[in-house]
Amino acid sequence: MEVVEKIKKRVYTFGNKKAEGNSKMKNLLGGKGANLAEMSAIGIPVPPGFTITTEVCTEYNALGKGIVLANIKKEVEKAVLSVEKIMKAKFGDSENPLLLSVRSGARVSMPGMMDTVLNLGLNDKVVAGLAKKTNNERFAWDSYRRFVQMYGGVVLGMKPKSKTDIDPFEEIIENLKEKRGIQLDTEFTVQDLKDLVFDFKKAVYHRLGKEFPSNPWDQLWMAIIAVFDSWNGKRAIYYRNMHGYPADWGTAVNVQAMVFGNMGLNSGTGVCFTRDAGTGEDVFNGEYLINAQGEDVVAGVRTPQQVTKLGSQRWADLAQVTEKLRINNYPSLEELMPEIFDELNEYQQLLEEHYKDMQDMEFTIQEGKLWILQTRNGKRTGAAMVKIAIDLIKEGLISEEEALLRIDPNKLDELLHPVFDPNALKDAHIIAQGLPASPGAATGQIVFFADEVAKYKNSILVRIETSPEDLEGMNLAKGILTARGGMTSHAAVVARGIGKCCVSGAGALKIDYKDRSMFVDGKEYHEGDWISLNGSTGNIIDGKVATKEPELTGEFGDIMELADKFATMKVRTNADTPKDASIAKNFGAEGIGLTRTEHMFFEVDRIKAMREMILADTVKGRKLALAKLLPMQREDFEGIFKAMQGLPVTIRLLDPPLHEFVPHQLATLKELADEMHISLDSVKVKVSELEEFNPMLGHRGCRLGTTYPEITEMQTRAIIEAALNLKKEGIEAKPEIMIPLVGTFDEFVFQENVIRETAETVFEERQDKIDFSVGTMIEVPRATLIADKIAERADFFSFGTNDLTQMTYGYSRDDAGKFLPDYLEKGILKNDPFEVLDQEGVGQLVHIGITRGRSTKPNLKVGICGEHGGEPSSVAFCYNNGMDYVSCSPYRVPIARVASAQAALKATLN
Ligand code: PEP
Ligand code: MG
Repeated sequence: MEVVEKIKKRVYTFGNKKAEGNSKMKNLLGGKGANLAEMSAIGIPVPPGFTITTEVCTEYNALGKGIVLANIKKEVEKAVLSVEKIMKAKFGDSENPLLLSVRSGARVSMPGMMDTVLNLGLNDKVVAGLAKKTNNERFAWDSYRRFVQMYGGVVLGMKPKSKTDIDPFEEIIENLKEKRGIQLDTEFTVQDLKDLVFDFKKAVYHRLGKEFPSNPWDQLWMAIIAVFDSWNGKRAIYYRNMHGYPADWGTAVNVQAMVFGNMGLNSGTGVCFTRDAGTGEDVFNGEYLINAQGEDVVAGVRTPQQVTKLGSQRWADLAQVTEKLRINNYPSLEELMPEIFDELNEYQQLLEEHYKDMQDMEFTIQEGKLWILQTRNGKRTGAAMVKIAIDLIKEGLISEEEALLRIDPNKLDELLHPVFDPNALKDAHIIAQGLPASPGAATGQIVFFADEVAKYKNSILVRIETSPEDLEGMNLAKGILTARGGMTSHAAVVARGIGKCCVSGAGALKIDYKDRSMFVDGKEYHEGDWISLNGSTGNIIDGKVATKEPELTGEFGDIMELADKFATMKVRTNADTPKDASIAKNFGAEGIGLTRTEHMFFEVDRIKAMREMILADTVKGRKLALAKLLPMQREDFEGIFKAMQGLPVTIRLLDPPLHEFVPHQLATLKELADEMHISLDSVKVKVSELEEFNPMLGHRGCRLGTTYPEITEMQTRAIIEAALNLKKEGIEAKPEIMIPLVGTFDEFVFQENVIRETAETVFEERQDKIDFSVGTMIEVPRATLIADKIAERADFFSFGTNDLTQMTYGYSRDDAGKFLPDYLEKGILKNDPFEVLDQEGVGQLVHIGITRGRSTKPNLKVGICGEHGGEPSSVAFCYNNGMDYVSCSPYRVPIARVASAQAALKATLN
């Protein structure tokens, strides 16, 4: 009951240039509610309404419907009264009715993931009143049938039963169109609309066994509950998990007076952006439909028109329509309603300046009056994100620090993926063109259903249009292609949000779901056929197109420079080959934090020598095999040192269980037996002797070096000789030799002695020296606890948070995939702890390890080389705990650089 007592106010009103909330109250009012309040307060014409807070959603999840409805009743009734006063109309009144919209609104925008009901408050009596009041019977009945359809779907659950089923209401609409021989919704007569309402209600009764609710207040209460429920719907949960948003945020509910874009030819509705959400260019752009309601634009059912004349021309070029056809059929808002356009243009400038960021706005024109329904910081691609941030600095709207803090480091990932090779594009055969809805390059095999995307490694999801249910498939696909829908369709908005290449509205495609085929450019394409999408031009290309590595240039480069200006914690990379090392260096890595030497042994010529070493019976036999590996390892290290040009390189001694290197297939076992001149049976026995019940907790890490010190010797020799060889060539190498899986002080000392003695021998032989250090992975929980002792001898610590997570949770790294998805879905874990460092538990051990290590050696160098080293929230944790560097895979280096700078900036703000 604590939750109830704490809540003092559950409903916040706005409208008529006043508001009880403001834009800073996003956690309580949700993003939409907070911005509606803010807009109202700064004088933007927003339909009046009120927001039921996210706290009420949490209250609902804890206490249920009955208590929550009782708790909000008085406040909601009072708020409706204030809307009635402003709109001079009455909710549920049959003479002068007020209709309401009910929408979700979490603290972050989750487009299409939760539910909305429009035109609420209609019934058989009110519809007559609306017709009389507006003197427009058709409009009234069109609103009514839309309401019944939407409310039926969202609140009453009238949805298709399976993926091949069509929506029960759409089926009724299609049947009527066929019966009447018409194609468009606009061709329905008033009687048709009345018939539709009747048939919809009949379908509800038929499926659910109860009447469609006619009391407006009942409708309102149930719609509010449905919005709360949609927070825990499948789509919303998937979206939350994908972005790591916690379940306890909850959603707010926004109830607003309806304004109508479907009251005739001087009404309309649209979506617009203050800058280009795909490229970041500073051009006002958007789409609208005449005589339509909000959902029509985003649902992508009718191809919308452009807001600006400029956009309209560009669109006409893409769609290859003539100027005349464009002006007649698709005039821009700027051409059609110049005064409204001027007003909208004024608001978009005002709102961008007010929020100091690119805005995504929804508007409705009701009989020549403009209303702004919503504004929010627009979702954008990674490319647009960096361009807008840099441009806003140049325009003096925000500071360098603010710009850097606005970068979502994870989104930089989009800019780090290969792009089409311009040479390969020259020969590309373009089969059609759609709208460049979300940039990027994608090559893959066609699939037509979102739940079948996983069939191929690289899939292109091809749909007539997408729906929010398709999110999971869209996320897994390499690219998305739709036949219908504009730049603001669901597919386009979602694709930009998740940084996925998307081409939308490619009208030339004839898609046949039943046949799993698409016809375009005179050719039939089937599921599994290869196509390529260029999300920057909208081109759809036959077959595969070659790609190339991206570069850190332009605004991306500027952001990186800014990051370096503010970052103090360094970023290194995990790299096992000279190629990876130089990619990472180009991305700004300041050294190598982890070279896993075992990866060098998997190449064909090496694996044989490795196996001989593993299967040898005697030290002599093992040393012989190791002697074969030595020159190869030396060469590897020379390559890596060269690539890093004097930057520090941490090389870890052999770590994995030896069993991973031996063959298991009969033919390979036989080959090995022949090569080693021993019997097949004895090879089989040796291989089975290596098998372990828990290899991850078995004979691996420094335990190998303890039982076979000759391995440590060979690897040390290879490292030191490589560095000495380069020294002769005038190239500096800075090796840091790292011992894996240390859990006791003596384990470390034993390995360290082997390393230092071997190095001394090599120095002696060569009559030359180099500097090197010897440190350890800290990845066994015990090592964190005795870190003060280990630091007596270790020159550096590198936290192996992969193993540390495995051993702290007791979750096998190799088996966790079986249960972690369930844990995430049930909310038992908020994140996969192998991706996002568990600061609460594992983080404590890291903290203890650093503090104890530095209690012995205050300047002990400390870093991290587990996968978490490239994950922004974990990077911030590393910074806050005083690490010298994080180390991550090459493609995450720029992400970690920004995350490191952000952590430093945030620390100065606190
Ligand atoms: C670790 O355990 O975090 C680590 C970096 O080592 P590996 O992943 O190779 O076990
Ligand atoms: Mg490890």
